[in-house]
Amino acid sequence: MWKNRRRIVALLGGAAVLLLPFLRIRGRSAARFDLPTLSLHFFGAVVPIDEFYLVLLGALFLVALTLWVTVVFGRLWCGWLCPQTVIRETGEWIASALPARYRRGGKTLLLLPFSALVSLSLLWYFLPPAEATRDLFRSPVLLGFFLSQWGVIYIMVAIVGPRFCKTACPYAMLQNVLSDRETLAVAYDPARPECLRCDGCIRACPVGIDIRVGVQRECIACASCIDACREATAGPGIAPFIAYRGTVLRGKAYLFAGGCLAAALVLLAAAWSRPDVRFAVQWEGKAGERRGNVYRYSVRNDSDQPVALALSVERPARLLDDPEVAVPPRGRVTGTLTVQGRNGTPEEILFTAEGRGFRIVRKAAFP
Ligand code: SF4
Ligand code: SF4
Repeated sequence: MWKNRRRIVALLGGAAVLLLPFLRIRGRSAARFDLPTLSLHFFGAVVPIDEFYLVLLGALFLVALTLWVTVVFGRLWCGWLCPQTVIRETGEWIASALPARYRRGGKTLLLLPFSALVSLSLLWYFLPPAEATRDLFRSPVLLGFFLSQWGVIYIMVAIVGPRFCKTACPYAMLQNVLSDRETLAVAYDPARPECLRCDGCIRACPVGIDIRVGVQRECIACASCIDACREATAGPGIAPFIAYRGTVLRGKAYLFAGGCLAAALVLLAAAWSRPDVRFAVQWEGKAGERRGNVYRYSVRNDSDQPVALALSVERPARLLDDPEVAVPPRGRVTGTLTVQGRNGTPEEILFTAEGRGFRIVRKAAFP
């Protein structure tokens, strides 16, 4: 039954979402936008907020991935992994163990702690999980976020439910534009116009549609109607009338997969070419009695190791300060340098920051 396969996928997906912030790679959460440091932690990499071009490239990759998945697999995401569907159906599944008359109320009650857990797990994607959980009732701001998210999630899964999928979900609108006749969809067998007319598929459908009249925008590809039809047709021993239909391997699928791969390669290239050490320098003012110019420099170390570097200027200019700088892991050091010119000093000074495995040259205007 598709229902069992979907439950396994939903449980695995749910566990991954809940556990990912707890998974530590190189001492950091595997996935979190860390609010205290304003940086994105992603599987061991740290992307500071001023390098958000990487996040934009990541978003570009996700858009390409969404286009590819949607063109090829239709609304499989909606029926199999969308949190709306997964939370609601998990509540229904557990409540199905209750006596029939308590199931509806049981599901409504169960969705309360489920929604709370989802709301809390969202906080874990912005603050260290242990810290967020410990401070939940100490920080009014944190508690406010938690309660408002909890309320919205509960309303979405327990009250609005599949009506959102039918009427407001933007992904459903996108589906209309992207899907074609070969996109994977749940469909009635057009070669068999007459079925058993048991209406089992309609009763099983969470969005309340009759798939026998054709593929519809509201369908979330959950396959509940396929399971219902399989049960109905098991007695007479005939093949179900409803199934997943479509062509996965085709030209358009390869084209979108190529776009997705290209976006992934651009993202990886940008991530791998990021320098660990950044050096910037600019003129700050006249040095007064020392008869030179003062320049302010900044060195940022984005690696997990301390960095030692030496600063120098191109002759004929001369550096009057100590040119040795030590920068702690993921730290930043700023300071000033006094540069004394000689006859023939150019209008721009060339500064060099040199350390183990790197050499960075920056120009600074000479006033
Ligand atoms: S038509 Fe079938 S696959 Fe589509 S939403 Fe209804 S039950 Fe799920
Ligand atoms: S469940 Fe199958 S047999 Fe029953 S009405 Fe739907 S399509 Fe026909």
